[in-house]
Amino acid sequence: MRCADNDGMRPIHLLANQKSEQHTVEMLEALLAAGAEADARDYSGASLLHQLCHRNIISQAGTLRLVRRLLVHKPQHASSSKDSLSRTAVDPSASDDDAGWSPLHYALDSLSRAAESETQSSIQQVVDLMRSSSSCLSSFDPSRPRDNAADGYLKRRGAHNHLPMADRADVLRGERSIDGIAKRLLRTDLPPQRVVVLLGAGASTSAGIPDYRSNTGLYATSKGGRDAFNPAAFAEDHVATWSFLRRTFGPAVSGEMRPTPAHRFIAMLHAKDMLQRVYSQNIDGLEVSAGVPDEKLVCCHGSVRKAHCASCGAEADALSAFNMEEGAPRCVSCDTGIVRPGVVWFGEALPRRFETLQTEDLEACTLLLIMGTTLQVYPFASLPSRCPLLTPRLLINQEAVGPFREPDLGAHEYRDVAWLGSCDEGVGALIKALGWNKP
Ligand SMILES: [Zn+2]
Repeated sequence: MRCADNDGMRPIHLLANQKSEQHTVEMLEALLAAGAEADARDYSGASLLHQLCHRNIISQAGTLRLVRRLLVHKPQHASSSKDSLSRTAVDPSASDDDAGWSPLHYALDSLSRAAESETQSSIQQVVDLMRSSSSCLSSFDPSRPRDNAADGYLKRRGAHNHLPMADRADVLRGERSIDGIAKRLLRTDLPPQRVVVLLGAGASTSAGIPDYRSNTGLYATSKGGRDAFNPAAFAEDHVATWSFLRRTFGPAVSGEMRPTPAHRFIAMLHAKDMLQRVYSQNIDGLEVSAGVPDEKLVCCHGSVRKAHCASCGAEADALSAFNMEEGAPRCVSCDTGIVRPGVVWFGEALPRRFETLQTEDLEACTLLLIMGTTLQVYPFASLPSRCPLLTPRLLINQEAVGPFREPDLGAHEYRDVAWLGSCDEGVGALIKALGWNKP
């Protein structure tokens, strides 16, 4: 109950922030009865009392009761568990958060915005109770403006702010560049490198595979592209789905299509025993063509190099499905089902490997290398926030995405490098900085 998240919020704060969930107040009472500290502040300086005065909760049934318990102490009942909610030391009109507002300011603000008379009267009761419980009302200024700069919050938020400055400065040693990343990779005073690569469509475009999500990508420009990942479209016309896949991915499956420098660089990392894992959003399997073994690869959206029966799920031979002139083979196990590509269709779950490996991989990660992805599709896009706080993160992409858009705001500038351009060029620059021979 004392553990805080990146915003300094404890369970009581998170609960009070829920949008009008039922039983919020009852759950808060249970947490307080079990020993949660009513006075704890989050990184914006807000206490539970501040949060109870926000619009989403102040007019809820039970809030008045909880505020009364927090403000009105009855020592004679303190021993019985039901009345043991400790009185808060937060004064409703004088304890300010970082924005300079007391709980009473928030309550009055909620009152001024309340629309229905019923809501107004329940908020008014909280306001009256706070006024009568405050010992500092004479100096209360209801018109004081709220300061939205949130300076204090930005300084305190995020677990990285609890790491020594010297440790943060040591990650890139002042070089927020490809050179800084290369020097870090080559340091001999660190444990062996375990690089985790997050790969998106941008890594395969130079091989000739169109990307998926951009304005010129498969989804925006072709019905086949949209239908290829749609189970209903497959059920209706599996011949069309397979024709599209053959046209787009046939050369990758047959081995005719060459992997790109980005793929070959990943294979190099593996050859040097520095690769922990590749999480690829791509289904073309070009990582395998470059020499990355299957066990080092998580195909987050499946792979066209795999296939199985659409009815019984039995594994099937993808290559022979790709080699057919038209349509797809029948399943040899059930004899009735049609073989479908081993890609993740819309509405389907990600492969189990994605779930089972990510915690171990991201904890071990010593460099997170993100290439050619917009980081817009979850849960893939949540991976960068899961690696250790002293692990550098390098983005090689045409544009800054995800946490790289505003590194200063997130205060991760001590470990984040964004290299903007194509994957091939970015990887070329990294290989040059490392002094390695081009693969
Ligand atoms: Zn089957």
